[in-house]
Amino acid sequence: MKQSFLAAKTNMNAPADADCINAKLLTQAGFIKKEMAGVYSYLPLGFRVLEKIKKIIVEEMDNVGMQQTLMPALTPLENWKKTGRDNVDIAYRPTENTVLGFSHEEIVTPLIKEIMRSYKDFPKCLYQIQTKFRNEARAKSGLLRGREFIMKDAYSFHTSEEDFKQYYDKVAEAYFRVYERCGLESYKIEASGGIMSGEEKISHEYSVVTKAGEDTMVFCKKCGFAQNIEISKKRKGDDCPNCKNSLNEEKCIEVGNIFDLGSKYSDAFGFHFTDTDGKQKPVHMGCYGIGVSRLMGTIVEASHDENGIIWPQTVAPFQLHILSLRENEKAEEITSNLEEDGFEILYDDRNESPGKKFADSDLLGIPLRVVVSKRMLEKGCVELRNRKTGETQEIPTRELQKYISTYFMPIKK
Ligand SMILES: [Zn+2]
Repeated sequence: MKQSFLAAKTNMNAPADADCINAKLLTQAGFIKKEMAGVYSYLPLGFRVLEKIKKIIVEEMDNVGMQQTLMPALTPLENWKKTGRDNVDIAYRPTENTVLGFSHEEIVTPLIKEIMRSYKDFPKCLYQIQTKFRNEARAKSGLLRGREFIMKDAYSFHTSEEDFKQYYDKVAEAYFRVYERCGLESYKIEASGGIMSGEEKISHEYSVVTKAGEDTMVFCKKCGFAQNIEISKKRKGDDCPNCKNSLNEEKCIEVGNIFDLGSKYSDAFGFHFTDTDGKQKPVHMGCYGIGVSRLMGTIVEASHDENGIIWPQTVAPFQLHILSLRENEKAEEITSNLEEDGFEILYDDRNESPGKKFADSDLLGIPLRVVVSKRMLEKGCVELRNRKTGETQEIPTRELQKYISTYFMPIKK
């Protein structure tokens, strides 16, 4: 895509109200625009990143047998009355009889109840990627704590606690894969109780180390042991209880949670099943969330430098950023050849100074930059720069395709 065509504009000055790195860099680079506290628009660059993150999540959730669905954001109040969550502080109530969903147990439970009656119908797990609403008193930290945000939420239904636990462990592994594929090192932390459930059931949070975190965890880099500092007796430098390695202590951001709902919601909606012995038994439920837009913000918090964002290859809006330094004819030829090979390219064809182009390129954070300049072309070369390592190489133009293939698979093939 030509950069002159792209609906995005960079700004070298940080927005005055940006209180954190992700809000600052994503706004400056033209990925998002703040509409009001905790509410953002996603511009084409930001949308591309979101779609890449969603694709990773969809692949991993489908892989553990979840089925994608889409429930409404606008939901009937009567459902929430059945669980006593009709008057929680975070609920938006646009009209007298409606709630904007902040979670979807109240919708999915009566929905699936119509489909599943016998033990033969179990287990099942439904998920969706959808916009959620929470009336946060203090919306802040860019995409980390929004009032409107994109979330993947999943709900599983089982005939026994044992079956639930087996599934829970499978999902727990899938979560690690999602974060790893997004270029993040995540830790699974034991948490106390589910969101607003008020019950002491198994539940875990996934956290990523970054300075912008609101929480602090003690963790072991060797075996993955991790606890929230608030509930842990362990401190930095103590021995890991599993492997005796010395523990670290860092600020972290929660990027997902999974928990045991027991029969709280199935009881509220009278969702029972007929077991093999002919008896009616309560359905055991699990719930699994990933904040998709929050994940995008977290990636920026975890991967940037003083010049801008450094996208991991897997979620970058484009694979290559080709910069023409007044050599548009040759740069266009290189771009169209590589696009034909299936690579995703942002091509800077703008009539801007080299300095401006380099600065914008660093800010946008596309993994590989290719500079097409007179000086390089005279040597039959282009300059290739890795955004993450800063490593720069001169590559013969005819070998560029082969060289780039060692970094990436073409996306479109
Ligand atoms: Zn350990």
